[in-house]
Amino acid sequence: MPQSSTTEHALEQVLAAARACTLCAAHLPLGPRPVVRAHPAARVLIVGQAPGTRVHASGIPWDDPSGDRLRAWLEVDRDRFYDPRCFAIVPMGFCYPGRGKGGDLPPRPECHPTWHGKITALLPEVRLTLLLSRYAIDAYLGPLARGSVRETVGAFAELPTDRIALPHPSPRNNRWLRENPWFEAEVLPELRRRVRAAFEADGISTPPGSEP
Ligand code: SF4
Repeated sequence: MPQSSTTEHALEQVLAAARACTLCAAHLPLGPRPVVRAHPAARVLIVGQAPGTRVHASGIPWDDPSGDRLRAWLEVDRDRFYDPRCFAIVPMGFCYPGRGKGGDLPPRPECHPTWHGKITALLPEVRLTLLLSRYAIDAYLGPLARGSVRETVGAFAELPTDRIALPHPSPRNNRWLRENPWFEAEVLPELRRRVRAAFEADGISTPPGSEP
């Protein structure tokens, strides 16, 4: 079996196991429904927080206003965004974690150590990882993370170029975006440049899903 087929088969097996996971079922108010997608050809890895109730119901990641904003930030259409050969979507928690006083609860802590290493080991083409949320930033930047999401996002030029920290694109962050206009002015152009570069590497010359 060619190496690429072997990797694809191995990833399919890991994803099937993840989608059948019930590890923290006792803590999930709506029960397990892991939402994760990936393909070994993916160039960009999106690490978000965890599904909300709408995504839990549909099983489609980022199928909500947060996803609409994220696609606008990336300048990609839905077809490209949902092509796992382009974007792998692997949140910090694969299942809806429930609701607390201040909004949705954090991703379940069992999920990242159980699944992320197994999945990302089978994504050899990833050139850029988008870190959306404090949890993703801490997991993927570790000691390189600054004291706050704002500081980490703002330090984009000093951090490794294969990872970029972003605020969560939720409408709940509209105020944050208004109060930090440098994000749209400075970080978004760099984000789009890095996404284009990720797809242009090794011969894919057309940035997937770029709006005309
Ligand atoms: S949140 Fe993650 S660890 Fe918990 S049941 Fe879902 S897939 Fe398994």
